[in-house]
Amino acid sequence: MFMTISTTGTQERPATDLGFLLHKHPGRKQTFSTSHGTAHVVYPEATAERCTAALLLEVDPVALVRRGKGKGRGGSPDAALSQYVNDRPYAASSLLAVALSTVFKSALHGVCNARPERAAEPLPLRIEVPALPARGGVALVEKLFAPLGWSTVEAVPVALDTQFPEWGDSRYVQLVLEGELRLADALRHLYVLLPVLDDAKHYWVSPDEVDKLLRAGEGWLPQHPEQKLITSRYLSRRWGLTRQATERLELARLADADDITVEEIDNAVAEETETEERPTPLSVQRREAILAALRGAGAGRVLDLGCGQGQLVQAMLKDVKFTEIVGVDVSVRALTIASRRLKLDRMGERQAERVSLLQGSLTYTDKRLAGYDAAVLSEVIEHLDLPRLPALEYAVFGSARPRTVVVTTPNVEYNVRWEALPAGHVRHGDHRFEWTRQEFRDWAGTVAERHGYGVEFVPVGPDDPEVGPPTQMAVFTMTEKPGTEKPSAEKTSKDKTSAENVKEAKVA
Ligand code: SAH
Repeated sequence: MFMTISTTGTQERPATDLGFLLHKHPGRKQTFSTSHGTAHVVYPEATAERCTAALLLEVDPVALVRRGKGKGRGGSPDAALSQYVNDRPYAASSLLAVALSTVFKSALHGVCNARPERAAEPLPLRIEVPALPARGGVALVEKLFAPLGWSTVEAVPVALDTQFPEWGDSRYVQLVLEGELRLADALRHLYVLLPVLDDAKHYWVSPDEVDKLLRAGEGWLPQHPEQKLITSRYLSRRWGLTRQATERLELARLADADDITVEEIDNAVAEETETEERPTPLSVQRREAILAALRGAGAGRVLDLGCGQGQLVQAMLKDVKFTEIVGVDVSVRALTIASRRLKLDRMGERQAERVSLLQGSLTYTDKRLAGYDAAVLSEVIEHLDLPRLPALEYAVFGSARPRTVVVTTPNVEYNVRWEALPAGHVRHGDHRFEWTRQEFRDWAGTVAERHGYGVEFVPVGPDDPEVGPPTQMAVFTMTEKPGTEKPSAEKTSKDKTSAENVKEAKVA
């Protein structure tokens, strides 16, 4: 089986730089022994204008079986024969992916000391894989590669036998990818997607495959529309591993930490400060309502869960009654902006002792959040997919258990009063849902009852007689004495993994 990687260039920026990027000299044929056969790297062409590297892998299918690694392909009536006579020597599969990652290891990581600038920049690339087993066919090949920035994704089905067109197509396609991409990104796409399309792995999938997947998928897998399919197939449908990977990818997506520059942060902070000086009544009113509820509850040590860019934390710092303020958010980007806004690095020691920012996800129980007077969830719950909400509910009301919990969320009924909002739209692109007053009351009532809290509702903003206020707020107060539920909550988080807690919260 083989694949080729080509690029084009000029006298000043020769295509043969590909040799530096792959760490393989274009003038030499090189051979490597991998765990399942011999890999060769040769250059069918190498000029300043055009350079092509070919990776060939010779697999011995009988040796594959003898080593006990051919398992997992049995089960069909011809399994006994297919163990020995199979497509593995010819089809681009996980074997080729492994060879790719072994032979082009540095390139896969984007490391090139000789031409670092070329490794970091997109190159005109053309990749050909002449026999790619594609379960899911041409349509799936396109769905997998097209979102990754390839300008051409061409998958042509290979006929079973050109002499007998009526037999139809085989499950193999001839793949051509073209586009301006960094070589490392291109190789990482192939490393993950070849075995995904083949939908079979030649080796036992162990837990460290999750790390490999996340490393190779960095920067593209968290946003990929077919992420579920990729993850599940890459991990050979091992459910536990797939779930682990999905949760970590979700965190990566939310944290969105890689694309931020100091300048961007400064601009964002400057922009927000400006908009804050203009009257932005609702957000200010909301903050005032939350502060009033916290003061009313006599809270000193307060968690701001989903603190975002730290506006509420900043407001609390101005009131000495709030002796300890902890902002928590899943987004590193938001926390970085919050930290700039608060000028954490230039703060006097006394002030600094009162405030801290933590990164964490509210859908997992977190021991750091136990023992506070109050917690605020300001405009946060609607950012979670509804099925994840019970997990947050358990983490906050079941595990952290502050005496007071203040929750605000939009009242969807009020949306008809926003002139700029087209009918049927939510207020913010990332809102996964917006509730009516009744829906919010139902949810809050159930949560309160389940976890031993009482709950009161407070309108925020103009309370329209027909549709109610723009923001709805619930103030939960613990009714069961602290300690009555605590031991069991502590036991739960100690004895079980947070994933199990999540399940339990869902079942409860
Ligand atoms: N509380 C702020 C920000 C609201 S925006 C305010 O009232 O202005 C919602 C915030 O919740 C975002 O900063 C987002 O990163 C955070 N968030 C969303 N899902 C989260 C999760 N699972 N864990 C922690 N924070 C989360």
